Amino acid sequence: PADALDLRAHIVDLPDHPEPGVIFRDITPVLAHPEALASAVDQLTALTAELGVERVIAAEARGFLLGPALARELGAGFLLARKPGKLPRETIAVSYELEYGTDHLEVHADLLPPGTRVLVHDDLLATGGTAGALCSLVERLGGEVVACSFLVELGFLGGRAALAPHDVHALVRYD
Ligand code: 5GP
Repeated sequence: PADALDLRAHIVDLPDHPEPGVIFRDITPVLAHPEALASAVDQLTALTAELGVERVIAAEARGFLLGPALARELGAGFLLARKPGKLPRETIAVSYELEYGTDHLEVHADLLPPGTRVLVHDDLLATGGTAGALCSLVERLGGEVVACSFLVELGFLGGRAALAPHDVHALVRYD
C-alpha cells in the first residue's frame, strides 16, 4: 500500500548548506515523486485523522506545500500564515526568534472562530520556533491547538520539547 513507502529514501541530504556544519534535508524529491507525495499526505492524515481537526494552519512558504492537501484529506480548512504585509485584510501578527534576529508571521484575524480545533503543520521541525509562533497565534485568537505535524523532525534540535505540551507527529526523524 502507498502508506508503506519509506519517505526517508526520497529526502536528499545537503551537507554544509546553508552554512558549514549544517546538513539541509531537501524534501522536494518527496513532492516530485507521485507515490511519495501521495504517501506523505496519507501518512500525515493517518496520524491526525482522529483529532477532530477543523483547520490546518501553516507558515509561508514550505508549510504551504502539504498543508492544504492535508486539510483536504482531514475535511478541514486551511489558514495561511504569511510574512508581514502580504495579506490584504486585517491581520493578527506574532514575532519569533531566529538564530540571528526576529521574524514575523500574520494571519487574517477573522478566519479562526474561537474554539476552533487547529492542527499546526510544517514540512520540517527544527528548533520549533516557527511552529511555536503558529501555536501562539492560534491561542491568541481563541483556537485550540490539537497537535503539530511535520514531514521531518530534526530530533537533536529540541523542537518537540519546545512545543510541549502540544503533541508532535512526524513521519521521518533524524537524531
Ligand atoms: P524552526 O522554526 O523549527 O527552527 O525551523 C523550521 C523551519 O525552517 C521550517 O519552516 C523549515 O521549512 C525550515 N528548515 C530549517 N531547516 C531545514 C531543513 O534542513 N530542510 C528543510 N526543508 N527546511 C528547513
